[in-house]
Amino acid sequence: MLRNPPIPVDVSPDGALADRLGRPLRSLRVSVTDRCNLRCNYCMPQEEYVWLPRQELLTFEEIARLVEVFTSLGVEDVRLTGGEPLLRRDFPQLVRMLAANSRIRDLALTTNGVLFAEQGEALRAAGLHRVTLSLDTLRAKRFATLTGRDNHPQVLAGIEAARQLGFPNLKLDTVVLRGVNDDELSDLIEYGRSVNAEVRFIEYMDVGGATQWSLEKVFTRAEMLEQLGKRYGAIAPLNENSSAPAERFRLPDGTVFGIIASTTTPFCRGCDRSRLTADGFWYLCLYAQAGTDLRQMLRAGASAAEIAARISSVWRARSDRGAELRAATGERGVLIGIEQLRLDPHLEMHTRGG
Ligand code: SAM
Repeated sequence: MLRNPPIPVDVSPDGALADRLGRPLRSLRVSVTDRCNLRCNYCMPQEEYVWLPRQELLTFEEIARLVEVFTSLGVEDVRLTGGEPLLRRDFPQLVRMLAANSRIRDLALTTNGVLFAEQGEALRAAGLHRVTLSLDTLRAKRFATLTGRDNHPQVLAGIEAARQLGFPNLKLDTVVLRGVNDDELSDLIEYGRSVNAEVRFIEYMDVGGATQWSLEKVFTRAEMLEQLGKRYGAIAPLNENSSAPAERFRLPDGTVFGIIASTTTPFCRGCDRSRLTADGFWYLCLYAQAGTDLRQMLRAGASAAEIAARISSVWRARSDRGAELRAATGERGVLIGIEQLRLDPHLEMHTRGG
């Protein structure tokens, strides 16, 4: 039950298209592939999955067309993700096409970094604005246990490449798992400082794919702040009025870090994000059970205006508060079991794009 039921609105204060909670359509995550070269046990614990059929993947032209429609409706921030986006063949070509869209204010990439040292230069040249690299541990053995692969040196090389290439606002994302890497928070902060990157600690979420999730394994925002406070002294919240998922803090020495606390302290009220899967399904929430098939419209010959009308009407009706509703569930467990995920791979985090 909402404490303050929202007044339905369809225009946000700045005049942009808005949903039923007044949230603008501003940020789009585009998953370019459901495949990944790591098998992080909190995301893709299985070796094999039901992969999206290749002929159903959007071509670069189709992605660019859909993004064009989204940006005509107010989207300004586009993040390319996956799966592992750098596995998509000729990926810099897609970046080049999107970089030509002048309505995109922030064209960003989320990557595990394994292939970034190889592709970083081409991506910079193609016009990529920003990069966020996932880094859960500084220890190679731990990385191998966590991901099932021994690519830790390549990940560190990828981060170094991003630094050397001068990508601004470099970010490192760390999912903190109790008993796995919760002893590395300050090491990661120190490492982030050394490579001029802001570290963001993410609470372990019970989204699709996290089939080994349990509440006990969640190292909470409160615990993160307590641990870092003991090490560094008083931590000051920056209290930014932002729709970004991370809440940012400053250490006494000025170092800034973030926490994404979607599990214990969700932030649905500010959520302006939606997600496009590699095969063209549009999801309004990481927790949503169903999406809108935009590929079908595109391939049936719908015009940009028709697709825009569909997107507008779906967004206007949006009332999703997935993380808040999950947090309100007293007894939490695995959200979606492996059998159900096999029946509908769109429910997977690696399909939907994290
Ligand atoms: N492969 C790319 C990467 O590793 O950055 C992009 C896709 S990955 C799904 C995006 C982010 O989602 C990663 O930082 C990953 O750690 C995070 N993630 C995956 N499963 C998660 C979970 N259960 N809880 C919290 N974050 C998760």
